[in-house]
Amino acid sequence: MDNRPIYLDCNATTPIEPSVCDKVSHFLEEEMGNSASRTHVWGMRAKQAVQVARHQVADVVKAKNDEVIFTSGATESNNIALLGLARYGEKTAKKHIVTTKIEHKSVLEPLAYLREHDFEISYVPVDKKGWIDPKDLADTIRDETLAVSIMHVNNETGVIQPISQITEILGDHPAFLHVDAAQGFGKEIEPLRNSRIDMISISAHKIFGPKGIGALVVRRRGFKRLPLEPIMFGGGHERGLRPGTLPVQLIVGFGEAAELALSSFSKRESRCRMIREKAVRALTSIGGVINGDDEKIMPHVLNISFPGLDSEAALVALKDVVAISNGSACTSQSYAPSHVLEGMGLDKDHLKSALRISWCHMTPDVDWKAVASRLRSCM
Ligand code: PMP
Repeated sequence: MDNRPIYLDCNATTPIEPSVCDKVSHFLEEEMGNSASRTHVWGMRAKQAVQVARHQVADVVKAKNDEVIFTSGATESNNIALLGLARYGEKTAKKHIVTTKIEHKSVLEPLAYLREHDFEISYVPVDKKGWIDPKDLADTIRDETLAVSIMHVNNETGVIQPISQITEILGDHPAFLHVDAAQGFGKEIEPLRNSRIDMISISAHKIFGPKGIGALVVRRRGFKRLPLEPIMFGGGHERGLRPGTLPVQLIVGFGEAAELALSSFSKRESRCRMIREKAVRALTSIGGVINGDDEKIMPHVLNISFPGLDSEAALVALKDVVAISNGSACTSQSYAPSHVLEGMGLDKDHLKSALRISWCHMTPDVDWKAVASRLRSCM
């Protein structure tokens, strides 16, 4: 099978860790219990396995086990976090939400929906390097601000946003802080452990786990629960916030992936850094310009423009060597310039020629010289 190109699109989704795959298969084949069945051992075993996984996920962000709500992934988590607060906002006349233009569509679209229903949405500007200046955020917060939703790591540029500084700015303002951490959970650990973050969206398939499972961490403030309401009904699972039979095999795989993210953190990071150094060296030597602040970019991501190049032509030229993208997978069905790079104010030439390359610790050695020479041939 393997004359396929090297997979360099890990921000779209990652390969699965072998031990995760083993756990998922084992639960699919051997453990058929429904974790909500109380009356027999099969249900008990499934329930115990879910509890272990809940702890493994909670541990990454130092949350309590019962603060982890399993969902189908970060898209659903983002929807629950934002739409689930709307009723409380209406009841308390707090109908102002703060976000940025570089969020994922699964944040921007629920917020666009709320805007149509009388909420006001403020967008904190991003600078040319893809970073939100916390001072700009401070200027947008008002008494009636219900929530602030800021991503941890941008999916297109890999730029890490100043989450810790944002928590300090919010301090004891009552606004809820939601962080879409689909791209940073398990890859940058400390900032997400801050208890001022009320909600964290997570996706297993970005951390070498299975697709179709994720979580929303909903932290209590002291003993107080967040006034979050469900957006689906039936069954009362997951503290009434996300009904439906739990996909035990996916949850067990997610738990294993979360545990590995902690235990293998340094090894993974140094392998990714090594790949990045080589990629940057080869691609900047042919005129590539890195999009985003290089000091704040995750070690497994490179978003790079080659003025004069057409990114669609480049993807074709590279297609037997490396599998990369020119935008996020969620928007790549129809090619339109990236809303993230547009939000950063890139000019047309840099927008049209941007490539997103993302790898992981499992990525084999890449012949960057060959990649550079193919790129050069289409300039
Ligand atoms: N937010 C961000 C920043 C993402 O990168 C993604 C996945 N591309 C999502 C949310 C959606 O995650 P999921 O695929 O788990 O729904």
